Amino acid sequence: MSEVTVLGIFVADISFLGDKIPSVGETIIGKKYNIGPGGKGCNQAIAIARLGGKVNFISKIGKDEYGKLALDTLEENNIDTKQIIKAKGLQTGVAGIMINSKNGKNAINVITGAPSTFCLKDLEDKIEIIKKSKIFLTQLEIPKKITLHCLKEAKKNNVLTILNPAPASKLHEEFFDYIDFFTPNETEAEFYTGIKINNEKDAKIASKKLLKKGIKKIVITLGEKGLYYSDEKNNLFLKANKVKAIDTTGAGDAFNGGLALALSQEKEIIESLKFANKVAGLSTTKIGAGNSMPFLKEI
Ligand code: ADP
Repeated sequence: MSEVTVLGIFVADISFLGDKIPSVGETIIGKKYNIGPGGKGCNQAIAIARLGGKVNFISKIGKDEYGKLALDTLEENNIDTKQIIKAKGLQTGVAGIMINSKNGKNAINVITGAPSTFCLKDLEDKIEIIKKSKIFLTQLEIPKKITLHCLKEAKKNNVLTILNPAPASKLHEEFFDYIDFFTPNETEAEFYTGIKINNEKDAKIASKKLLKKGIKKIVITLGEKGLYYSDEKNNLFLKANKVKAIDTTGAGDAFNGGLALALSQEKEIIESLKFANKVAGLSTTKIGAGNSMPFLKEI
């Protein structure tokens, strides 16, 4: 039995580091570039595996150069590639990432490629894996119909569900009945609630609004400020760990991976949040997305 199942995409992240993120119409001479694994689902799966968890990653790639990078990356990280659909004639996803090397902030354009064609038929032999998992973790990078179907099947089978609602995208109200943990960042939380998040107070108001929709537990990640957690009874603000951040790409993924793993080990919620906060902080000290996920021994 797999403890955690992640459904999501792999993309090859092509990152450019420079003194700034170029503005529209501007060309700058950057410092360096890097090609590495990315895609929220893949990053989260790598985070879990590097932290010592058993993870099943369900995804779809093309039979191309970047598809090979996907399989190599998963194998290197001891992630089973059996649940990866290798589709002929489709492209593996690619992301263009501009990074400001002074503060680690980024701007990203993702072409999801093969996983944008994910259909129910693709899932026929995969749904059992989700049903038998302890935790089901997913995001919004594959078609929403598939995401909702899997969340439903997971919940029907008492699997704990985590939806990292990224990138922000309009959700049908039905989604909210099948989510245990909802983990937006500040921008996403604003998208789902209409409330601009600048501080703990704003996060509290936004969380209340989300809880009213029927979601059971809300975690709003606040970047270098930390995170705000809220459920029916408890509210909690956790400060971020002090680190020297050089690239925040994938911080949210490290957080979600860390949270899923800790919950699968039946750690208390507060302990799980503290652990995820630490994992995410450490991920910002390395360049890249999938490759910046920390190992258990670093924590
Ligand atoms: P996303 O990557 O999805 O935009 P955030 O930027 O909110 O997500 O970051 C997720 C988590 O990563 C934060 O809640 C925090 O734990 C950690 N984190 C992000 N940036 C920093 C930072 N500069 N210093 C320490 N921790 C950070």
